[in-house]
Amino acid sequence: MDAKTYCPVCERTGVGFTPLPDFYRQNSLFHGFQYFGRAETIALDTYACMSCGASDRERLYAWWINMQIESGALKRGARVVHFAPEAALVKKIRKLDFFDYETADFMMDDVDFQVDIMDIPFDDEYCDFFICSHVLEHVSDDNVAVSELARITRKGGCGILMAPICVDIDDTLEDQRATSDGDRWRLFGQNDHVRLYSHRGYINTLESNGFVVQQLGEEILGENLFSRLGLSPTSILYIVTRPEPQNDAPLNLSKTLSCP
Ligand SMILES: [Zn+2]
Repeated sequence: MDAKTYCPVCERTGVGFTPLPDFYRQNSLFHGFQYFGRAETIALDTYACMSCGASDRERLYAWWINMQIESGALKRGARVVHFAPEAALVKKIRKLDFFDYETADFMMDDVDFQVDIMDIPFDDEYCDFFICSHVLEHVSDDNVAVSELARITRKGGCGILMAPICVDIDDTLEDQRATSDGDRWRLFGQNDHVRLYSHRGYINTLESNGFVVQQLGEEILGENLFSRLGLSPTSILYIVTRPEPQNDAPLNLSKTLSCP
């Protein structure tokens, strides 16, 4: 068994990972956020790749994308939209030169499209695949945002759709009255978050707005892979698929289960 660390974003083996910046713990303590470190997918001690800066979740996404390319599930020329694009992952995907790849964000300047995810200016079934990570916890109506993502995904297409999920709560926490930085830190763990998802609440939001949800955790992907990528054991990758009529060829996700 190869225990060497591996970053699928910069493709380096034996790479070191640095801890999550202490800023988050300090602010959580200061504001009284009680769930610091209790997120599903957060590797506190092995957060960022020392070579490319990619976070633990970016490494998981890059690994999955590599696997889908290898298996043929994601095809050359597929239209891919990357929302709130993470710098290291953008660099990796552009270097692959494999997809018809576009970036989109509400605030960032250096993207192909400046979009409000609750009102995406794309046609129905615009893309084959999307990446949208850590966006839904910021938007005022996440149901509208998820239904927009489903609308722009072709039937049978899929996406990586992730948000911070707290392992200690049963229902998603939301409070419209929490508008100050302090209240949002205290309740949701960051000043620009407007909710804190529970596992059940998150799945419900995705399923009730048009997606079939596949959860890939350590029991499926394997301890060895999690250890090599520096992931926490509770991490879960959410792959959402827009269902399609029976006759079209379904996306083959069966090969997601093996480790490279
Ligand atoms: Zn890296």
